[in-house]
Amino acid sequence: MDFKLSKEHRALQVKAKEFTEQVLFPYEMECEENNGITPETHKYITQQVMDWGFNATNHSKEHGGQGMTLFEQALCSEQFGMSTGAIWDAIPQPSFPMKFGTQEQIEEYLIPSNQCKRRDAYAITEADAGSDPTQCQTTAVKCDGGYKINGEKWYVTVGNVADFLLVHTHIDGDPEKATVFFVEKDAPGVSVKRTPEFTHHFAFKHPEFTFTDVIVDESKILKGIGEGFNMTKDWFVEARLGIAARCVGGAERVLNVANDWAAERIQGGRPIREYQVIEHMIADMTMEIMAAKSLLYRVCWEISDPDMDRKLKHARASAIKLWCSEMVNHVTDKGVQILGGRGYMRENPVERLWRDQRVDRIWEGTSEIQRNVIGGQIKKRGVELYTGWDYEK
Ligand SMILES: Cc1cc2nc3c(=O)[nH]c(=O)nc-3n(C[C@H](O)[C@H](O)[C@H](O)COP(=O)(O)OP(=O)(O)OC[C@H]3O[C@@H](n4cnc5c(N)ncnc54)[C@H](O)[C@@H]3O)c2cc1C
Repeated sequence: MDFKLSKEHRALQVKAKEFTEQVLFPYEMECEENNGITPETHKYITQQVMDWGFNATNHSKEHGGQGMTLFEQALCSEQFGMSTGAIWDAIPQPSFPMKFGTQEQIEEYLIPSNQCKRRDAYAITEADAGSDPTQCQTTAVKCDGGYKINGEKWYVTVGNVADFLLVHTHIDGDPEKATVFFVEKDAPGVSVKRTPEFTHHFAFKHPEFTFTDVIVDESKILKGIGEGFNMTKDWFVEARLGIAARCVGGAERVLNVANDWAAERIQGGRPIREYQVIEHMIADMTMEIMAAKSLLYRVCWEISDPDMDRKLKHARASAIKLWCSEMVNHVTDKGVQILGGRGYMRENPVERLWRDQRVDRIWEGTSEIQRNVIGGQIKKRGVELYTGWDYEK
């Protein structure tokens, strides 16, 4: 086995690190103080994203993206995840399911999104449909001119800067006909109901949208009637690995800050790291990151194989998302503790990451849902699915 990064992968990692430090870090405090980035900053970062070649790392070159493997995407996301306030979300990763679009949809939505000219937001969750999206109440009913959409969507991340939405509906209210539509944000009948505030100061907002008799042409259906759940499940693999990679990066930043501080901070006549209780916290943080990163790289490398079984991909992605999102919360909590009062100040990146990372145990499937997936997979396929090395069943 050779676990070394290739020269190309090492170069990509270094480039993503430089981009994060030079382009994203300088805007962290603006994001914190304004509770989001300004349109000017957004424009500047977008231009930098294009110049550095980090737009649409998750889409093919043919469609105007970077055509990176999941492993390469993880190398980048790990670095981007070091930034606070989710400024990494100013690097568009257009929703993966758009690649299943018709040629017309690819030209109208995917290619311009990959080129940072348009922006999508994915709307599944509702007041009564969170972990269980089969409870979705947003309906699409056939009518003159296509389909009429009615309903409400919650937590639509980047909904304030997106210009179109991918809306998960049930045709005729039937969960068997879960169907995603492209909906222009300025279409008649689409409106923002509320823009709630959250724990983090995120680069963008998560508004709630209502859809009242929104007429959408049949050609705006993505992939086909009844494809909504399967498409989303496949996307979860990419989205969950992305979260995991950012969690590893965020944890590394916390560790670096805490480790430096422990050496520098003198109390009781000596650096605090000389107190074993502090040294042990640093040791635990380091080991947790080492384990998470090993798992992340291994799984992203495996999943980059296009022939890997789809169900195995889902199973492994759930495990990584669960492990890394829980890891980063332990690590960041210890980081705050090592920094003392400074760790509780918003001007400190450790404090900001502490707030930012709480949601990683909630979105894209809560920790409990990941455990349900893992438990279910163990029941069906045995523990070797996770504990074995070359799993071939
Ligand atoms: C900041 C933010 C951004 C988001 N962005 C988006 C977005 O862009 N698009 C989008 O569609 N959604 C988005 N979401 C929604 C997110 O995916 C949901 O919040 C998440 O899936 C959980 O759903 P819920 O909040 O309704 O919690 P619930 O499903 O009500 O869960 C509440 C609790 O019950 C537990 N629970 C529920 N079901 C089970 C079960 N079967 N077994 C065990 N425990 C269970 C959960 O784990 C949790 O602890 C976002 C959420 C947040 C907070």
